[in-house]
Amino acid sequence: MTDIPPLAVLFVASSFLRWYHVSMRQSELFTRTRREAPKDETSKNAQFLIRGGFVEKVMAGVYALLPLGLRAHQKIEAIIRDEMNALGGQEILMPSLHPKENWEKTGRWGTYDSLFRFVSYYSKIEYALGPTHEEIVVPLVQKQNLSYKDFPFAVYQIQTKFRDEKRAKSGLLRGREFSMKDLYSFHASDEDLDTYYEKAKASYRKIFQSVGLGHVTYPTFASGGSFSKYSHEFQTLTMAGEDSIYICDKCDVAVNKEIIADTKNSCPDCGNGSLREEKAVEVGNIFKLKTKYSAPFGLRFKDEKGEEKNVIMGCYGIGLTRLLGTIAEVHHDDKGLVWPESVAPYRAHLIRLGDDEKVAKFADEVYKEFLEKNIEVLYDDREASAGEKLADADLLGMPYRVVVSAKTLRQAQGGHLEKKKVELKKRGEENVVLLDAKELLKQIS
Ligand code: ATP
Ligand code: MG
Repeated sequence: MTDIPPLAVLFVASSFLRWYHVSMRQSELFTRTRREAPKDETSKNAQFLIRGGFVEKVMAGVYALLPLGLRAHQKIEAIIRDEMNALGGQEILMPSLHPKENWEKTGRWGTYDSLFRFVSYYSKIEYALGPTHEEIVVPLVQKQNLSYKDFPFAVYQIQTKFRDEKRAKSGLLRGREFSMKDLYSFHASDEDLDTYYEKAKASYRKIFQSVGLGHVTYPTFASGGSFSKYSHEFQTLTMAGEDSIYICDKCDVAVNKEIIADTKNSCPDCGNGSLREEKAVEVGNIFKLKTKYSAPFGLRFKDEKGEEKNVIMGCYGIGLTRLLGTIAEVHHDDKGLVWPESVAPYRAHLIRLGDDEKVAKFADEVYKEFLEKNIEVLYDDREASAGEKLADADLLGMPYRVVVSAKTLRQAQGGHLEKKKVELKKRGEENVVLLDAKELLKQIS
């Protein structure tokens, strides 16, 4: 047996894993940046995300997430997961392959327009690929045989959805395969659903703020279907959006096209604001389902008096793939992406210019400092021209650009010859500052 204390082994192993996770040498990244976007991609989000090597298009409406894109997606995922856990959501993972009979039970096998349906080659049994999961979650909850004491509760998942969309032309904003967070809440009364719905609305606002879309995202009154007066969409302003919304000039809410006629052009929230039209994309949606899906499956419970009642439900969706695309639409300039810090694949982009040995050595040292301070960094250690590297840094859009070059190593400032400086610039700002490594780390962490 060895004498190494197990804790030390754990520490070494975990710090290795942490380093591995927080940093990347660009020379080892298998993806390449491109000058041109594919001709058939007309949306800015797909153009920049493909050119930067964040995603790759597999076919119309279907994208693969590459290392940089997956990291941004994982950041979004973590933000959403935290909020869903705070809402009391219990995370589960439901299948994508759905039995036809469940969809027949709710009557949606024949009416859900974008349902992918197919037949097994062997058994001739029919299946659907899940576009949403009411048909799965309701029978799943039913098997738990719940009583009134078990309510309320909520389950959620972050999972891949499939929809046979007629047109898929807005890049990641409308896919035929995409990731979604869907939460389902279960209640013993309408009042309890109402309370939970308001909490969910507040947590949605927090999520869109956290991912850098708070300033352009509006809770939007939408149709509540046959069960409720209204539902709410969360609509983000962008010219790339396919929806039109009408924003109140008095309060921070909007109305969507479906219900604009019912509202007689005045705000349904404050009653006296007038409404202006804007283009937007729906990034999330919350809906009081009431007994719409519990009734067809017979999801019932016994109340205090022993009386049987249908369970009351709400559902709450956020499109993660669409959010990634929306963030790209909202946060870019003509050179590339400008990631909000909270979802940037890496916080810093360390760039070594030139192949001078001293420069390389110092850049390696700075890189090591980042690792030790646990700051997520992409290190451009490639053999490439300065022009190419700086253009790539703009395209990739990490929040902090750190340049190490022969010039920054012997930069004269205030008449003194100061050594070992780096140049720091925030993406989206013009201002450049010279700092030593210590000051740099203080600024960035
Ligand atoms: P839309 O009206 O844009 O088609 P929807 O009303 O069909 O959206 P929901 O069924 O409420 O959307 O789905 C929940 C969330 O999933 C949406 O708010 C959106 O963020 C996302 N979403 C829906 N369809 C797509 C798609 N085709 N591609 C990417 N994300 C999508
Ligand atoms: Mg749709």
